[in-house]
Amino acid sequence: MDRAAELAENLADVRRRVAEAEAAAGRPAGSVHLVVVTKTFPAEDVRLLAGCGATDVGESREPEAGLKARACADLPLRWHQVGQVQTKKAAAVAAWADVVHSADRERLVAALARGHARSVEEGLRPEGHVLDVLVQVDLADDEDRDPGRGGAAVGDVPALAEAVAASEGLRLAGVMAVAPAGVDPRGPFERLAQVAARVRAEHPGAAVVSAGMSGDLEEAVVAGATHVRVGRAVLGARPPIV
Ligand SMILES: *Cc1c(COP(=O)(O)O)cnc(C)c1O
Repeated sequence: MDRAAELAENLADVRRRVAEAEAAAGRPAGSVHLVVVTKTFPAEDVRLLAGCGATDVGESREPEAGLKARACADLPLRWHQVGQVQTKKAAAVAAWADVVHSADRERLVAALARGHARSVEEGLRPEGHVLDVLVQVDLADDEDRDPGRGGAAVGDVPALAEAVAASEGLRLAGVMAVAPAGVDPRGPFERLAQVAARVRAEHPGAAVVSAGMSGDLEEAVVAGATHVRVGRAVLGARPPIV
């Protein structure tokens, strides 16, 4: 099968999974947005996906992400940064991303705001452009917490959400999480839903709940995810990232 047909078929399968999960959860059809995570795959795949009607793509590493976004600048796509961001890479990310899913510390929020302001000054972004930012939540139990994986402790989320909301050029769009490895994701996704509700109580516009990947999107949709981030189920296996 050629790559275009393979991607079209995989994308249709994932859309069917999302639709079935929406129905099973009693949620309206189309209430969950699909972000196709294209990290490690070439710009040509992004182009083929756009041709199949994909509207949102996710990337995670510089400089690959920025190069790919620029190579695909002619396509009507919304670009999501889904992985951890080093503070020194924040400006590079703010130059191409429409949504950053992984704000997990105040220093990074400040660096994104500075980088975004500069990209507007330099004309890379139109005047008035706003960068959507999600606060990434670490859902691991205290003893399992891995500081390398990213995510703010649940107790730190309100202050971080406030920091995003108060930043010029940034818009607090909601929360995001990756389920901890090796545990039933339902408990963590429920915990995320509670964190999301608390954030919305303070910031009613922060409606995004980004959760669920190839292996656990059904559980995430049941728990109220508004966005799922799916890579392998659409693009196939990735070479391991080291
Ligand atoms: C790579 C990645 C995904 C996609 O994961 P798959 O298992 O390939 O669906 C989703 N979210 C984040 C943060 C990622 O880094």
